[in-house]
Amino acid sequence: MNNTNKCKIILLTGYLGSGKTTLLQYILKVQNLYQVAVIQNEFSDEMGIEAPLMVDNNGDIFDSFFELPNGCICCSAKGQMMTAIQYFIEKKPNIQFIIIESNGLADPSSLIKELWADQGLNLPAELATIVGLIPSHKFKTLYELEIFRKQIIHADLLLLNFQDLCQEDDIILIEKQLKIINPNGKLLKSVRAQIDIQSIFEAEKADNKIFDQEHIHFEEVGNIAKIFLNIDTPNITQQEWNIKIGQMLWEEDLKIMRIKGLLFCKDEQVMYSLQGVEDIFEITPTNLPISNQQSISKILIIGQKITEELIKNIILSH
Ligand SMILES: [Zn+2]
Repeated sequence: MNNTNKCKIILLTGYLGSGKTTLLQYILKVQNLYQVAVIQNEFSDEMGIEAPLMVDNNGDIFDSFFELPNGCICCSAKGQMMTAIQYFIEKKPNIQFIIIESNGLADPSSLIKELWADQGLNLPAELATIVGLIPSHKFKTLYELEIFRKQIIHADLLLLNFQDLCQEDDIILIEKQLKIINPNGKLLKSVRAQIDIQSIFEAEKADNKIFDQEHIHFEEVGNIAKIFLNIDTPNITQQEWNIKIGQMLWEEDLKIMRIKGLLFCKDEQVMYSLQGVEDIFEITPTNLPISNQQSISKILIIGQKITEELIKNIILSH
């Protein structure tokens, strides 16, 4: 499934003032291992003068750079983003990574959906890593905003930036909260977005690690809940899973923001992976064999108005 020759997309997301541009500048300046291109969609007063500020490892002006100053890549400028990706892949076939800096108000779920849809259409690039930057010192206030929570929920790597402006106790509290709404995300701490950049280029999809948990968990923070289910599903086929998950995402009163799973499907030789964002999802075979003849499926759901009972009812109904 994972075509390693594909150009990889790294998405930088984070609220206004979280340090995305600083991180981008830092990455370009210190990295010298990869062929990188950048797509930037940031509205700021400095618009148009951002580009010359980007310098590579040799101190030269970084030129594989595409600015999308008009419109937001999660809505009005979606098409422009896809065109920019196509452009780099065609004109610069050596490019290994395209880093997209989204603007601070963009909804990552909409970007993920767009990139998924095009992956299905054989876009020669795949979304590899989503980095979520968090201005730690403003966490409490920003947490009230839905868009801020979404930027956290979808990240593979969570960068707790502005550590210098926080008390240690606050950081511990933030970490606790993050573990609930994004148990999958790997946490990194930084001051001026300076981190070991290999952690970004070599970020592993930690997807399957979370499924090592054994028991059912329900945790809630703010109005976002996390449910982790370990459920015996010996009689559900792949096709039936499609119907059940669709039902969860489309028909019920639940507001699911993120769903992941490792599914046991009747009559199949391997486990299936479930990935979903809001109203879209896919169920695809993995190369994981079924362990010890067990028919256990593991599902992680993050969203609002979700209860274990509702979810179980859908899964176990006929
Ligand atoms: Zn938008």
